[in-house]
Amino acid sequence: MSQTYNTPTDSLSIDVGDDYPDIRESVRRLCADFPGLYWRKLEEAQAYPTDFVKALTDAGYLGALIPEEYGGSGMPLRAAAVILEEIHASGCNAGACHAQMYTMGTVLRHGSDEQKQKYLPKIASGELRLQAFGVTEPTTGTDTTKLKTRALRDGDEYVINGQKVWTSRALHSDLMLLLARTTPLEDVKRKADGLSVFLIDIRNARGKGLDIRPLPAMINHNTTEVFFDNLRIPAESLIGDEGKGFKYILDGMNAERILVSAECIGDARWFTKTSVAYVSERRVFDRPIGQNQGVQFPIARAHAEVQAADLVLRRAAARFAAGLPCGDDANMGKLLASEASWHAAEACLQSHGGFGYAREYDVERKWRETRLFQIAPISTNLVLSYIAEHMLGIPRSF
Ligand SMILES: Cc1cc2nc3c(=O)[nH]c(=O)nc-3n(C[C@H](O)[C@H](O)[C@H](O)COP(=O)(O)OP(=O)(O)OC[C@H]3O[C@@H](n4cnc5c(N)ncnc54)[C@H](O)[C@@H]3O)c2cc1C
Repeated sequence: MSQTYNTPTDSLSIDVGDDYPDIRESVRRLCADFPGLYWRKLEEAQAYPTDFVKALTDAGYLGALIPEEYGGSGMPLRAAAVILEEIHASGCNAGACHAQMYTMGTVLRHGSDEQKQKYLPKIASGELRLQAFGVTEPTTGTDTTKLKTRALRDGDEYVINGQKVWTSRALHSDLMLLLARTTPLEDVKRKADGLSVFLIDIRNARGKGLDIRPLPAMINHNTTEVFFDNLRIPAESLIGDEGKGFKYILDGMNAERILVSAECIGDARWFTKTSVAYVSERRVFDRPIGQNQGVQFPIARAHAEVQAADLVLRRAAARFAAGLPCGDDANMGKLLASEASWHAAEACLQSHGGFGYAREYDVERKWRETRLFQIAPISTNLVLSYIAEHMLGIPRSF
């Protein structure tokens, strides 16, 4: 039975997995063509899920957030979250393409009319892939404002030098959104000033100062290292005003956190469904293992955590859609959802005993995949410091 709570902006149905039923049903049907075997083979070959991404593109899901005037579906953030949740609840993984949904938000919100006309319709149709987002650097990590990649204006060009790490999907993207410093840190009043966002055409840049190298990782995430060596890009690659890039990407990061959290919720649903089926059937000591409360309780606890995380995320999405500040809910939702999915994963792996390690069950793959969310796109400690310092006003540590 579902209850309804009123928020300032929306009426929310409480049960996890029950809003936008038509979208959920059609995403589930699409995902049925991409079973565990598909993902296991891809991982063995460290390959990109081209067919899966094409199916999502053709169905219009990756253009869900692009307004209709630019050829997208103009859906609210919550609908996009539902798409990603269902993908993950079906045992699939949207990590290969989820950024195609939201990276364009920086262009949409801060780009010029010309940039929007030039790029958004082609991103909506899938003709152009904008799913690489270069922020993290090897030496500065989470301390983003200290990043060292520089973009220097030279006539009608910018010259870029530096290095990014963990730039996911860069080898499967036509465009990259890049955060680089345009004014040295020592010359700005606030450390967040002097950073700028650029939209780089990877196709023109590779081999001319842009080098992209695969970075093998614990999961098949198609992530890379990116090197800039005197890369020259047209000045019109700048998005918005020079020096205001940090603010622009923060807007996008809230959307990203809400969407990635929806993937956590989807993962958690997959783990819980898988756990319930297994512990109800697997018989040891002449009874289903699920009859033991030591087996039941971790599954039950994770289920409760998922319900709570889902509620906070729905509020975050509703606030985002209403143009209200949503950073508090996006961060808390991300914290709760990433931990809920991990607890559901742990309960699932543990209740499968040795079979949790057997590749054919997909439990170990999903377990590895969902662990990422406590580190990327933002690590748990950094969310906690946001809550402590920005929400609660405790003295800042950095
Ligand atoms: C598979 C994968 C894909 C990724 N994709 C992208 C991408 O597409 N684009 C991109 O830009 N980045 C990407 N990232 C990078 C990701 O966002 C970062 O790894 C993450 O934000 C953590 O930064 P870091 O690795 O530099 O860790 P560090 O900043 O070195 O931190 C290491 C640990 O120390 C903790 N820590 C650091 N400082 C403090 C502090 N002051 N207080 C308490 N704890 C602290 C952190 O919480 C973390 O647990 C990806 C990472 C992975 C693993």
